[in-house]
Formats: sequence, structure tokens, C-alpha cells
Amino acid sequence: MRKILVVGAGQSGLQLALGLQAHGYEVTLMSNRTADEIRTGRVMSTQVMFHTALQHERDLKLNFWEHRAPRIEGLGMSVAGPAAQRVVDWTGRLRGYAQSVDQRVKMAGWLEAFAQRGGRLVVHGAAVSDLDYFSRAYDLVLVAAGKGELVSMFARDAARSPHREPQRALAVAYVHGLAPRPECPDTDAMRCNLVPGVGELFVIPTLTLSGRADILFWEGVPGGPADVFQGVGSPAEHLSLMLGLMQRYTPWEYARATKAELTDARGTLVGRYAPTVRHPVAHLPGGGLALGVADVVVVNDPVTNQGANAAAKCAASYLASILERGEKEFDEAWMRATFDRYWESARHVTKWTNAMLGVPPEHVLNLIGAAGALPAVADRFAAGFDDPSDFEDFFYEPERTEAYLASLTGTHA
Ligand SMILES: Cc1cc2nc3c(=O)[nH]c(=O)nc-3n(C[C@H](O)[C@H](O)[C@H](O)COP(=O)(O)OP(=O)(O)OC[C@H]3O[C@@H](n4cnc5c(N)ncnc54)[C@H](O)[C@@H]3O)c2cc1C
Repeated sequence: MRKILVVGAGQSGLQLALGLQAHGYEVTLMSNRTADEIRTGRVMSTQVMFHTALQHERDLKLNFWEHRAPRIEGLGMSVAGPAAQRVVDWTGRLRGYAQSVDQRVKMAGWLEAFAQRGGRLVVHGAAVSDLDYFSRAYDLVLVAAGKGELVSMFARDAARSPHREPQRALAVAYVHGLAPRPECPDTDAMRCNLVPGVGELFVIPTLTLSGRADILFWEGVPGGPADVFQGVGSPAEHLSLMLGLMQRYTPWEYARATKAELTDARGTLVGRYAPTVRHPVAHLPGGGLALGVADVVVVNDPVTNQGANAAAKCAASYLASILERGEKEFDEAWMRATFDRYWESARHVTKWTNAMLGVPPEHVLNLIGAAGALPAVADRFAAGFDDPSDFEDFFYEPERTEAYLASLTGTHA
């Protein structure tokens, strides 16, 4: 039986470990926290996942919370004008629903399932020296440790990483008590509010420890008015700052949030990180190799809500590559080919996400504006969150955007 070590019990590490376990591999999972520590810890993400990524979980029968989590049927976009009014406002229908399950709930539950199914769990924060030792004892070492320190083993790929600095300051609050969206009170939708010069506010229905909730998520332009959360004392102060920004810049969202209360004392998060692509193979000091997974090798800013989706897609792609390898050695050439196969989809996520971090060019503003009058554009934009490769055909090049809009309106440029 082939022996595989997975380091990191997040979206990709657990999905891979459980998938390999189901196929009869002898899997050891190293996690720096127990299930209880994850469950009682701080929120980690907003983790909205779209149809394709959710289907990977269903395929492995890991969709334990599907019937309890809100079904996000639509994706809305609003653009704030200078007087804090909405100059653009539309909702695209998703082809399959999206869901957000608090990673504290999901990762703790998956970790317990892995152990109950006979998996070997080592609760230990792995260091490079551990991996050196383990690379001799295992057929394959997979590093799925997210944005943790182990990423330093994987060299930055400068050609694929246009940014060296964080492009947004992140602030999250999980709340109960948000009023329904007046324009669609019976449908759950997530909304991205673009506030030029300030950043983006996302509002996302979720399932958390205490049941159904909503997530408020500010992505602040560094140094701008929403980059104010570092060092904030208490969770209550954090929420109050978030609501204050909503009142000032997105009053339509604030109107729903006047009764919002934090779900729990660990329901807030602050952070920032630079989007980075890394080389996928680490050479350990003793000569062994390790293959990087998901955020370790491709980390994007969450402005397009893609990281957990990409992690699920990476885990599914790596699982297929491992199964197809059979009994042959997991050598460096195989590791590189395994990453390249994943990069075929990941490159679209990175390209689109980096584009969304910049100031939108005129043709993109026209496209987002046109979606207000043309539901087909809104629906296609929403579908791009599930499959960002589609943006190639209508988003980046002004000529393609114009041709697409002309094809819908019957006009010709
Ligand atoms: C504020 C915010 C909002 C986000 N919103 C979304 C969203 O809406 N949709 C979306 O798709 N993505 C979103 N993301 C991104 C998404 O959460 C991540 O990209 C995704 O969880 C990455 O999965 P992963 O498996 O690579 O790593 P992770 O899920 O981060 O898991 C890594 C695990 O490894 C553990 N670990 C670290 N170091 C070690 C070590 N040395 N030894 C053992 N274990 C270790 C960590 O504790 C963690 O449990 C968001 C991220 C942030 C920060």
C-alpha cells in the first residue's frame, strides 16, 4: 500500500487525505491543531464555494453540511457613486448554487471523519527538518499548509507573481441579525459592493457554529479609509468600525445591518497577504522532495472569492494524478506535471483576480454597467466565479467585450 504524508488540515489537505484514504492509500495527516482547537478557534475565511468545487466535495461524499448551509442562488454586484448612492446594481443567477460553510465547522468535522475512518493523525506543527525525515519514510510528501511558514521552502515564481505587497487589507465579521435583502427577500444571494478608492464590501450568507449567519467582509485598499482594522482592541470595536464604514460608503447594506451582532467572540478576522505563485517542488536539505498544494503554491487575494474553490480543484486534480500514477515513483518530473495540470485552471483564477485588484479599465466598467440592463451579462459574470476561464472570451480585451455586448444588443462596433 502506498504511503502518503499530507501536511496541513485545511480545504486541500483534508480533501486530499480523505480522497486518498477512500482509495486505499495509507495516509498520515499532520495538523498543527486538533479538531476541537479548530472548532473553538478564530474564523479563517469567508469560504464561499461555487458549483464545480462543491461537486468535488459531493463526489467524495464530503458534503456533510449541504442540507443545512444557505443556498446562494445569486451573485450581486453594486458600485457606489461619489454620494454613496448605488450607480450600478444587479444580481446574476448562478447556474448551480454556491455555499459557505464556516471552515471551523468543516475542517473540524472532516478531521474527525479522517480519524474515525482509520487515518493516522499527527497533531504537530511540521518543520522543514520533520519533512526531511518523513520524505524518506513516505512515497510522497504533500505540503498543504496554506499561508503558513512552510511556504518558504517553495521559491517564488516571479514571472507569475506581479505583486510583492498585499493589495488589500482584509477585515471579516460573522454576524447574526442581518435583515433580508429587500430586493430579493426570499432568495439568498451574495453581494460584492465596489467602492472606488476604498475597496470592496462582500456580504455572504453562511453556516457557522451557531447556525445560519451572514459574513461582512471589507477588502480595503491599503492606506485607504477601510484599512483601519490592524490593532483594533475588541471584537465589538471591530464590528462597530465595519458598520461605520458600511453606513458611510454602502448605506444600502448598512440599512440591513442595524441589528447585526457578532456570532461569537472569535467571529472576526484581520489580515493581509501578497498574492504569490510559487514553484511547486521543494528540495529538502537531506535530498528528499515535497510537492506544494493549493495556497502553498498559488495564493490569490480573496477579492474574487476563489482560494477555497481553487484548493478544492487542486485537491481533485492532484488526486487524479496520484491515482493515475499507480505504483510508479512520484519523481520530480511527475510532481511538475501534476502542478502544470492544476495550473491549467489555476492560471485563469490568478489572471482574473489580479485584474480585479487593479483600477478597472473603461471597457470593464462598461461591462459591469451593462449587466444592469442585460441579465445575460449579469448571469455570465456570475458564472465566471465558478469557471474563471470564461473571462478570457469577454473580459480582458476591449474588442472582445465590445463584440460580446454587441452580440447581445444587436449593435455593431
Ligand atoms: C478573509 C478571507 C476571505 C476568504 N474568502 C474566500 C471565499 O469567499 N471563497 C474562497 O474560495 N476562498 C476564500 N478565501 C481563501 C481560502 O480560505 C483559502 O484559499 C483556502 O482555505 C486555502 O486552502 P488550503 O488548503 O490551501 O489552506 P488552508 O485552508 O489555509 O489550510 C492550511 C492548514 O495547514 C495548517 N498548517 C499551517 N502550517 C502548518 C504546519 N507547519 N504543520 C501542520 N499544519 C500546518 C493550517 O493551520 C491550516 O489548518 C478567503 C481567505 C481569507 C483570508
